[in-house]
Amino acid sequence: MNTYKIVLLPGDGIGPEITDAALAPIEKAVAAAGGLGLEFARHDAGAERHRRCGVALPDETLADCLAADAVWLAAIGMPDVRKADGTEVQPEMMMGLRRAMGLHSAARPAKLYPGVPTPLANPGAGIDLVIVRENLEGLFASYGGGAVVGDEVATDTIVVTRTGTSKVVDFACRLSRRRGGRPTDARRRVTCVDKANVFRSFAFFRKVFFDVAKGYPDLMADAAYVDAMCLYLVSRPDAYDVLVMENQFGDILSDLAAGLVGGLGMGPSGEIGAGRALFQPAHGSAPDIAGQGIANPAAMILSGAMMLEWLAAERGDPSASRAAVLLDDAVARAVADPRNHPRDLGGAASTARFAEAVADQIDG
Ligand code: ATP
Ligand code: MG
Repeated sequence: MNTYKIVLLPGDGIGPEITDAALAPIEKAVAAAGGLGLEFARHDAGAERHRRCGVALPDETLADCLAADAVWLAAIGMPDVRKADGTEVQPEMMMGLRRAMGLHSAARPAKLYPGVPTPLANPGAGIDLVIVRENLEGLFASYGGGAVVGDEVATDTIVVTRTGTSKVVDFACRLSRRRGGRPTDARRRVTCVDKANVFRSFAFFRKVFFDVAKGYPDLMADAAYVDAMCLYLVSRPDAYDVLVMENQFGDILSDLAAGLVGGLGMGPSGEIGAGRALFQPAHGSAPDIAGQGIANPAAMILSGAMMLEWLAAERGDPSASRAAVLLDDAVARAVADPRNHPRDLGGAASTARFAEAVADQIDG
């Protein structure tokens, strides 16, 4: 039996509520799958901790994150908690964690579960795609840098390296193979999204994409400009499976994709490095609804399922894979009934009620 050490960071705002709600369903899925265990180490980190102690991410928490099998984070950041220079605590903490853990790629699945409202009149054959985002460079390499000249001009710099791009494209191609392709496709499709017609950095990203994709002849590799992709994602989202792109484009397109499948409350994300990974909901700490017990915990639960899926692939553990499938199926069955829908999906179910409905769908 494999026991995995998971660092749990409930964080700020709705973070602690959705964490408490998500624990029962994941523990039930793990018990029902059998053959594995999760050992949670809960740490206090984030903006509220910074408010109390002046430090968002204590050294011992970072050390535990580096030593853990995976990190499961709920939400970090409060708009009113700021560092001495006036900036929010969250970007510095997350960039620091990402850089220390070497999390070079981020994956944000956008899957439309039956019963979940979508703004699209015609979602075609259904939406089940993953936005893969380069996670350490691109425009975000400029974080902490950039320049303001006088009070007149401001600049930031995009950095695209062959090493960073190769890692994220490799990750996307391996993910595509694991997913096995969309039923509508004859071949598995990996699409590079860029602005190669205008910028040298993006032309280089595309070039490296095709160089790496040559090593995956079983996949169909193609490319599209980011502006066109915004149109395609709303006009024929069922045509895509894995989309890979630079950091900022991934930031933007993943929110667009989340909007097609029920909003941020339905969107999990995973950030992946060499043997290390961090999973969290795509949304933030939602301070406007914190403490009311009305947040949708689905993204937190689904990020737990992604964590199990990653452990399964990384450690070759079929038990973890079974637990991931049980948890994902349970969410699918729970959201199929509108009586379980939290407020963001147009219903009235509480955070706890939704999580109970998910746990009820797991036998055991
Ligand atoms: P961040 O900068 O951390 O990404 P943000 O400013 O984008 O945060 P969020 O905290 O994600 O903002 O919240 C955006 C909106 O979505 C808010 O109105 C919030 O209440 C809502 N929201 C976010 N997460 C959830 C959730 N799990 N359930 C219900 N509503 C949510
Ligand atoms: Mg946001």
